[in-house]
Amino acid sequence: MSTNAVRTTLITGAASGIGAALARHLTALGERVIGVDLSNADICADLAVPAERAALVARVQKITPSLDAVVMCAGVSPPVAGDTLVSVNYFGVADLLPRLLPLLQRGRQPRAVVISSLASLHPIDTRLVEMCLAGEEFAARKQAANIGAPSYASSKRALTQWIRRTAALPGWADAGVLLNGIAPGVVKTPMVAPLLETAEGREALSAGVPTVVRDYATAEQIVPLLAFLASPANGYMVGQVPFVDGGADVLLRGEAAL
Ligand code: NAD
Repeated sequence: MSTNAVRTTLITGAASGIGAALARHLTALGERVIGVDLSNADICADLAVPAERAALVARVQKITPSLDAVVMCAGVSPPVAGDTLVSVNYFGVADLLPRLLPLLQRGRQPRAVVISSLASLHPIDTRLVEMCLAGEEFAARKQAANIGAPSYASSKRALTQWIRRTAALPGWADAGVLLNGIAPGVVKTPMVAPLLETAEGREALSAGVPTVVRDYATAEQIVPLLAFLASPANGYMVGQVPFVDGGADVLLRGEAAL
C-alpha cells in the first residue's frame, strides 16, 4: 500500500491524443504519471509484442511498488494492419492489465480504465471477437489480417465484453480494484486527423459516427470522464463502458437500447 498522498497513474498511449491529454491533466493536479508508449514516454514498449507486455511489469516495478490507477489509452486504427491492430487494441489490454493487477491491488483506492470505442457498435467479425475473448492471439492476428478494416470494430467489441467480464472476477472489484471503460465517438486526435482532412474521410466518419452536437470532441473533453473513473471519486461504478460520443449511440440505437 502506498503511503504518500500523491496518486500514481500508469497511462498507456501517453505520448499522443487522449492519453497525452489525461497525462497533462493529472500532472497539473500534482499527481504522478508513468507514461507508456512506443516512444517519448517514461517506459517505451511495443504493446503489440507479447514479450514486451510480459516484460513491462518488471520495468514498472523498478519505478513503483504499487499503482493507484491504470488507464489504457494505447490504440491504433486502419490503415494499420489488422494483426498489429488486434494485438494493440485488444491484447494490449486483455493480456497486460491482468499482469498489472497485483500492483493495483497494492495501490490506494485503485482504479483501472480502458478506452473502447463507439465503433464497438459497428458491424463486427464474430469469429475474431470469439478468438479475442478466448485469448487466442495467434489465431486472432491471422483472422484480423484477413478481414482488414472490420478488425477495429471487432477489437473494440471484444474489449467492451472483456471489461464487463473481467470487472466482476475475483481479485478485481472484490479486492477494491474498480474496472470500467469508456466508449468515445470521434475525437480530434492524430488518430483521426488524416480522415478529417479529406471529404471522403469526413463522409465516412459522419456515416459511422453521426452526432447530435455540432463538432467532434477534443481530447480534453474526454479527459474528465476518464479522470473520474480513475479516481477515488468513482466509488461504485464497476464494469461499465459509458459512451462519450456527442449523441452517436442515441442516434444509432435509439431510446430503447440498454
Ligand atoms: P493517438 O493516435 O493520438 O494516440 C494513441 C497512442 O497509442 C499513440 O501515442 C501511439 O504511439 C500509442 N500506441 C500505438 N500503438 C502502440 C503500441 N504498439 N505500443 C504502445 N503504444 C502504442 O489516438 P487517440 O485518439 O488518442 O486514441 C486513444 C484511444 O482512444 C485508442 O484506444 C483509440 O482506439 C480510442 N478511440 C479514439 C477515438 C478517436 O476518434 N480518436 C474514438 C474512439 C476511441
